[in-house]
Amino acid sequence: MRRIDAAAAQDRGANATSGVYGARLRLWFPVLLFGLVVAAYVWRRGEQVRWPELCWVLAAFLQLAIRWPHVQANRANRVARSKVCPLEQWLMFGVFLTLLGLPMFYLATPWLDLFDYRLPLPYGGAAVAMMVASLWLFYRSHADLGRHWSPSLEVHTEHRLVSQGVYRRLRHPMYASIWLFALAQPLLVQNWVAGALAIPGFALLYFLRVPREEELMLETFGEDYRDYMRRTGRVLPRWRG
Ligand code: SAH
Repeated sequence: MRRIDAAAAQDRGANATSGVYGARLRLWFPVLLFGLVVAAYVWRRGEQVRWPELCWVLAAFLQLAIRWPHVQANRANRVARSKVCPLEQWLMFGVFLTLLGLPMFYLATPWLDLFDYRLPLPYGGAAVAMMVASLWLFYRSHADLGRHWSPSLEVHTEHRLVSQGVYRRLRHPMYASIWLFALAQPLLVQNWVAGALAIPGFALLYFLRVPREEELMLETFGEDYRDYMRRTGRVLPRWRG
């Protein structure tokens, strides 16, 4: 038993070390990509730089920066049970495309400009407030969920039910924060393809995933999760009970 523990600890150590070097190498990709997109954007818009679009880039970058350390830490987790299915992986790709890929492509090139629309200034102001709330909730939900976070549906060997912090009244604060981001995006990136598609892009994943995630939590935590469901709302807080 002790030997297994020692081997597991050594394995975790090795993972952590390769994770640190891997993280350093891979961190260059998003930083370089964001830098190139902003440079291309400023070059192509010139005097016509739009502050709502710059706010979107900053929010997208901060979202990535909040998640980055958790992606690294999550590598050491051992999966005990998984509910990943091919459809969900396609829908995750759809989220990546509509919430990151298409807006970046739109900012850097003129090829989607024909799908533009224009909104009055106050919409941009409201969207910035939504982005601030989204980033705060994104940060807090990662901090509260800690090592139990995963990009897809899985339960780890040392998984426990988190019901404190932002999880006290909400079962899905991280998805609530992504909803805020997806709803704010079309107000900042005013384009039917690069901005507005974020809403159906995330809705498809959300409505497929949440019932399956709750089923997985019920299979894992049984009555504890059922009680937790009675006390909480999905993405809107429940104040009763
Ligand atoms: N739906 C949550 C978590 C998203 S991360 C939110 O929106 O905040 C997805 C993973 O989190 C799932 O694979 C599941 O294993 C885990 N998870 C979801 N709710 C949890 C909870 N209350 N406690 C512990 N893990 C949870």
